[in-house]
Amino acid sequence: MSDYLETLYEGYGQRFSMDKLLHEVRTEHQHLVIFENARMGRVMALDGVIQTTEADEFIYHEMLTHVPILAHGAAKRVLIIGGGDGGILREVRRHRSVESITMVEIDGTVVDMCKEFLPNHSCGAFEDPRLNLVIDDGMNFVANTREKFDVIISDSTDPIGPGEVLFSENFYQACRRCLNDGGILVTQNGTPFMQLGEVQTTAGRMDGLFPDWHFYMAAVPTYIGGSMTFAWGSIDPEHRKLPLETLRQRFAGSGIVTRYYNPEIHLGAFALPQYVLQAIGKPSND
Ligand code: SAM
Repeated sequence: MSDYLETLYEGYGQRFSMDKLLHEVRTEHQHLVIFENARMGRVMALDGVIQTTEADEFIYHEMLTHVPILAHGAAKRVLIIGGGDGGILREVRRHRSVESITMVEIDGTVVDMCKEFLPNHSCGAFEDPRLNLVIDDGMNFVANTREKFDVIISDSTDPIGPGEVLFSENFYQACRRCLNDGGILVTQNGTPFMQLGEVQTTAGRMDGLFPDWHFYMAAVPTYIGGSMTFAWGSIDPEHRKLPLETLRQRFAGSGIVTRYYNPEIHLGAFALPQYVLQAIGKPSND
């Protein structure tokens, strides 16, 4: 039995025992490994970075999905960039109000291998008739599509390799163009304790592009280095100022049963610590 050592950071990282190697392949775009670990369940890594584990994926997928969709309140058309494991897709399709889901994933092999070896992530979501799965670079798609969306969720790898372009000014500007009135963009934006520069860079690119931008946080154990941030860009500033009672009504009305998300966590997640506020140049969480 060998170990899997994450190589995201120099001199600091996490180790998993690979109790059973399920699949390993160098795809057209990245190196993919899926293995079993007694404590975390099935684990996928891409290019040396842990992407998702069966044990804690619910935290990340619920927070990256239900916060923007419930804040929006009337999302019908959702765009997912990345998300090859199907976890975001599984959570989006739980919203009956959503009529159309477009998912743009650069690596078809990730989708195929996750369907086979991580079935509990997608739970059949790839069969949803509302889904339009596009195998392409998300940057190409948002730069060229004429479609518009109510919520865009960028569930990408870190800004290294194919994922790097999904943190670029061009990408955020193209997403802004693809949003309907009242639209919201949310993105995976790393752990600020370890990747504060990424948060700062995103902040600088969101500022001036979205009438309301901020970040929200959740602690996902296998995204090491403390709580992680999700970037938030909203055309309507009211979406981040919803009263708790409104969120409670929307959440109850959705009929969705969660393991992590609830309306109180939703509101609390936007309360950033001082060092993050200072890094993004905001005097407060307003
Ligand atoms: N939850 C993980 C995280 O926070 O790091 C991300 C999981 S998901 C597996 C990341 C997906 O982004 C992968 O399937 C990868 O192939 C995809 N991806 C990376 N760069 C992309 C690009 N430019 N366009 C579309 N998908 C991309």
